[in-house]
Order: sequence, then C-alpha cells, then structure tokens
Amino acid sequence: MKACRSCGAALAHTFADLGMSPISNAFLKADQLNRMEPFYPLHAYVCGACFLVQLEEFESPQQIFGDNYAYFSSYSDSWLDHARHYTEQVTARFGLGAKSQVIEIASNDGYLLQYFKQKGVPVLGIEPAKNVAEAAVAKGVPTLTKFFGVATATELVAKGTRADLLLGNNVLAHVPDLNDFVAGMKAILKPAGVLTMEFPHLQHLIEENQFDTIYHEHFSYFSFLAAQRVFTRHGLQLFDVQEIPTHGGSLRIYGRHAGQGGEQGDRVKDLVARERRLKFEDLETYRKFSGQVQETKRQLLEFLIAARRAGKRVVGYGAPAKGNTLLNYCGIRSDFIDFTVDRSPHKQNTFLPGTHIPVYAPERIDEVKPEYVLILPWNIRDEIVKQMAHIRSWGGKFVVPIPKVKVLD
Ligand SMILES: [Zn+2]
Repeated sequence: MKACRSCGAALAHTFADLGMSPISNAFLKADQLNRMEPFYPLHAYVCGACFLVQLEEFESPQQIFGDNYAYFSSYSDSWLDHARHYTEQVTARFGLGAKSQVIEIASNDGYLLQYFKQKGVPVLGIEPAKNVAEAAVAKGVPTLTKFFGVATATELVAKGTRADLLLGNNVLAHVPDLNDFVAGMKAILKPAGVLTMEFPHLQHLIEENQFDTIYHEHFSYFSFLAAQRVFTRHGLQLFDVQEIPTHGGSLRIYGRHAGQGGEQGDRVKDLVARERRLKFEDLETYRKFSGQVQETKRQLLEFLIAARRAGKRVVGYGAPAKGNTLLNYCGIRSDFIDFTVDRSPHKQNTFLPGTHIPVYAPERIDEVKPEYVLILPWNIRDEIVKQMAHIRSWGGKFVVPIPKVKVLD
C-alpha cells in the first residue's frame, strides 16, 4: 500500500489521474525517436489524514532522473527582481548583517545569494547539481554540492555552521523525503533563526485548474494547512505567511523553532480560516477536481478537432514541463499541433517527450503563419502575447488552454 510522504497514512484517494507520462524534461533528439521511451504513472493522490496532495513514489528520483537530477528552477529578469526585493525585505525585517549566516537550499547558480553577498552578509548555498553549483562559486557564492536533508545538516552543524536565515524557493515540492528534509531544516537553524520557503499554493492549482503543473519532478502540492502539519511535526512554528504571484500563485512561509516567540501572525490566522472555509480538510473538495480536469481535456480536444476540420493550422508556443503534462494527458500529437517553438536554444531542434511534437525557434511561426498559436506556458501569457503580437498581421490568434480553453481576441 502506498503511504503518505508526510504522515505515513495509506494513500487511497485520487486527486488527478493523468495517465502514463514520460519525464517532462526528457526532450528527444531526432535519432532517439525510434527508441523505447519510459513512461511513468502521473497519478496525484490526496492523503485522507493530513490532506497533502502528492504523487506516489514508484522509483527513486535518481533512478528516474539520473545524474542530471536537481531541483529544477528557472530564472528570468522578473525572477531576479523578485530575489533582490526579497533580500531587501528580510535583511531589514530580521536585522541581518556581517555576523549573520544565510543558508539557501537549492541555491542554484547563486541568483539570490549574490544580493546578500553585496550587502556583506555571509552566505552558503547548498545545491546538488554540480555544473550549477560551479557557476555559483565562480560568482563568489560559496556552495556545497549536496542534496539537503538530516545528513547534510548534521555535517554542517558539526563544522559549526548554522543559519540565522535559512531559505528555499521552489524546492519543497521537489523533495521526495519530506520529513528528512524538514528535520534537516530544524537541525541547521540557530535557536533564534528564521526560515522562509516559497512554494506554489494548492488553492490556485485547484481554483485556476492548473492540473498541468502536476509532473513527475513535483512530488508534493501544498495547502498552507498541509505544509504547517509537516513543520509542526518537526518542532517548527510557522509564524507568518505572504501570498505572492510567482508560479501562478505561491506562498512564502516564515518559520522558527516552536516555543521561541509566541503567537502566529494575523496573516497565518486569516489563511488558515480561509482554507478551512474552502474545505481543504474535506476529501470531497479534492475528489471534485478530477471532473474539472477531464472536462478541460474534452474542451481542448473539441477546439482542436473543430479547428483542424475547418482546415486551420494550430501550432504551440513554448515547451515547458506543464505543456508536456497537458499534451500527453490529452493525447495531442502532431496530428493536432504541427510544431511548437521555444526561445531556449537547448530545446530547439528537439522533440517533445511522449508526443514527439517538433520544437523550433520562434521565427518558424512567422514563416508558417498559422491561424492559431496555443500558449503552453500560460503563466507568462501576457509576455508572449506582447512578443508575438505581429501574428495578428496575418489574422493569427492566441489560444490559452488553462484555466479553460479560450481564444484571445
Ligand atoms: Zn498524510
């Protein structure tokens, strides 16, 4: 029987069953198209005891993702602004300075710690991907190339390294052994230290139908209530929370050792009250989600069938992980979408995993002049509509699949 990765209870309730899917970042080269391709179940459950939404663990991440496994993150100018703004805010709020230690888990190439360093605050990054960690070190951000958990925390504590501020952005969802990870956070935090974590908020996933953000690299999908249960279990109190717009709507939680400083703030109380009002501790809320997902598939297929019957050409824009979930779940291949395009040169001239839709550079759209462009990374749709506004010159239209299929006028 499958067990909940937070509380260990048996997992019996389906949240969304998206069928069998390849790993979303397993882009194929032309010479790999005729080879066997591994597919894994993409089936999200909700725990009936602690209400954590999660993927069942069927193989270790290293087995699935190989040596390239790291906490996947992405960056852009707006993400760097976000990091800089965060640094200003917490430095002032918690009085960080030359005698403080900031530790970031999944610190990537030092995109965030560089701002603390500029302020003269000592930093340490922990990043399992070697090539990415090397880029951080080159920037002058000291970085330990390791996965984080109790073992890494114990090793650092033994060397006298503990955190005044411990942070991790978009890492909690990627952690297979959640309890080991949070126990490690408890161990490495100084008695009066503060932790902050950012992760996508389940409320947005449900309300905005973001089922395509379910993919194998994301093991857990958190409400505040479900996250709080994990931290409480390890003697950490969440005392504040902010709602932020990143990744379609995220939470930034603030934690400290339990018994260190009194009451939870009003923002925590309000969010807990809201999630209870929205029945996030009622299985029925989660059971209904499957129906919503299936309806989106029917609508998208209806749109594509009608467009193709009418002789219109449909192409994609973007090759994000979420697009692969959507296309594989809906069974959309190059019979419906001729190709997709992506600005990343690493993805150009490859094929999407599973669906084998070719990926080209964005200029291809200007050559082909299709009637419809389906935007797969809907979270940056405004940016794409602006960049590609010229498709209107030949009567092209944008289509977004999520929260529901919509042709933009
Ligand atoms: Zn549970």
